[in-house]
Amino acid sequence: MNENEQPVHPAPLAGAPRAIILFGPPGSGKGTQAKLLKESLSVPHISTGDMLRERIASGDPLGLEVQALMQAGKLVPDETVNRLVHERVRAKDCAGGFVLDGYPRTIPQAKVLEAELLRLGYQPVVIHLKVDYTKIIARIAGRRQCPVCGSLYNLTSHPPKQPELCDLDGARLMVRDDDREQVVRARLEAYERQTQPLLEFFAASGRPFHEVDGNDGSPTAILERVRALLG
Ligand code: ADP
Repeated sequence: MNENEQPVHPAPLAGAPRAIILFGPPGSGKGTQAKLLKESLSVPHISTGDMLRERIASGDPLGLEVQALMQAGKLVPDETVNRLVHERVRAKDCAGGFVLDGYPRTIPQAKVLEAELLRLGYQPVVIHLKVDYTKIIARIAGRRQCPVCGSLYNLTSHPPKQPELCDLDGARLMVRDDDREQVVRARLEAYERQTQPLLEFFAASGRPFHEVDGNDGSPTAILERVRALLG
């Protein structure tokens, strides 16, 4: 595989299995949708973040290589994630299609993926889950965690029975550093910088590209919107 390979766009094979490429900002519910899609379509959910974390947990050489980068919030080199995805999509369980989550993150990754999918006969379908940033900030600002047992709450969707106190042990709930507004804004800006060129790349590729409104509705209602677009 070579990242300089220029993708070509022959007509997709009728009935070709789909590679669903999911984009969505942090706090958009992308991870939830990926899991729901996996269940409702019976296809694997391929999250590069999860795969990398598994490698770190198992202590294998690749895990050791990427650990420091991930802890620093930096991207892992393209060749490393490309190799992981290259191996994963060749597994038997991917034959009927799959959902990609967190990949591609860069244009070189997108080019490698395009070439890879063509070679293997998958039809790429991009789903961009769109949620207003003010909504995301409000959602995340409502998150609370128990400092004692780690239980998670959300003041709107899953409030504690007693305001600001953990249901299980009564400890005063806390806002995690990751959920502070400035941190969330910085993550959203980083997402935008990273993702905009990818969305343009896929929109220009002539492949199916769908934007889904993730602002309102339950996770299953949003899943239905996605499924309706997938046909
Ligand atoms: P988050 O949405 O918090 O960034 P992910 O689970 O998608 O969570 O990714 C966690 C980390 O794994 C990233 O910060 C990055 O270090 C690494 N990573 C995951 N996917 C990729 C990718 N496609 N390219 C490069 N690095 C990646």
